[in-house]
Amino acid sequence: MKILLTGCSGQVGWELARTLLPLGDVIAANRSEADLSDPDGLRRTVQKLNPDVIVNPAAYTAVDKAETDRDLAFLVNAEAPRVLAEEAAKKSALLVHYSTDYVFDGTKNAPSTEDDVTHPVNVYGQSKLAGEQAIQATGADHLILRTSWVYAARGQNFLKTILRLAAEREELNIVADQIGSPTWARLIAETTAHILRQILLERQQDVFNSGIYNLTSAGETSWHGFAQGIVEIARQQGVQPLKNRVINPIPTTAYPVPAKRPLNSRLSTERLEQHFDLKMPSWDSALRLCMEEMV
Ligand code: NDP
Repeated sequence: MKILLTGCSGQVGWELARTLLPLGDVIAANRSEADLSDPDGLRRTVQKLNPDVIVNPAAYTAVDKAETDRDLAFLVNAEAPRVLAEEAAKKSALLVHYSTDYVFDGTKNAPSTEDDVTHPVNVYGQSKLAGEQAIQATGADHLILRTSWVYAARGQNFLKTILRLAAEREELNIVADQIGSPTWARLIAETTAHILRQILLERQQDVFNSGIYNLTSAGETSWHGFAQGIVEIARQQGVQPLKNRVINPIPTTAYPVPAKRPLNSRLSTERLEQHFDLKMPSWDSALRLCMEEMV
């Protein structure tokens, strides 16, 4: 089985390049090998490689920049997934795609389920939702995995930023009224591999149904709680000298950024856990495992 993986240098892509290995021949493509801002070139690449499965973690992920870079965000997050799905449909291949809690406006007072009404509040969320809808419209066999608050030992993310700031500053102000579940890229990649095994069997038995699944860690916290967790673990590890003494909780309104964020980013993982017989680990236990690799 041939698996085409896009965005292999990203947080999730880098981990997928490893966890997908036992499933088949993985062609791990970076931006220059599969450019999602060039739909025609991307189509030719897929046709040439002729994969059985396409796994697409590549995305335009600069949430604030997307506000003023709408065309590129839509090209990469909506048009490119449509091309991938069209090519998958032609060959009866499977497309595994990633999406986000930012397809919701975050006004629900509970974790969002896959069937809740979408209503993105920023351009990034709109472009990711357009990607979901474009894939669905092609009729290709697909799996859309919505995740949230992704971090990893590599790449640019909140974990790395907090570790840097905690080493530099005694006092940090972190938003405390946005809640979600920080999710380790490794967990996303391991879970994808597990799911994929089952899906491939379901397709062989002709019982596969395309659909959306939420894929996050269990539990919830705020960005403030996430920062506290990071600094606490770093302090216990004792490897890095930390200047930080206090992390102040602040409201979203005190930290203005170009893109509006949903206050509630929580996603229910019940459908994923039931269908694939999984138990998602708590966000803080996964964080500890990730940070153990960083010392
Ligand atoms: P990263 O930002 O870490 O990685 C994005 C990847 O996409 C990089 O490999 C990047 O390449 C690649 N990419 C960007 N533009 C292009 C392009 N034009 N052509 C080809 N590749 C491109 O993202 P994550 O791993 O964190 O995200 C994985 C998925 O999860 C995405 O679908 C994202 O929307 C979703 N998600 C992410 C969240 C997060 O907090 N990060 C939250 C919720 C969902 P390069 O290295 O060259 O820039």
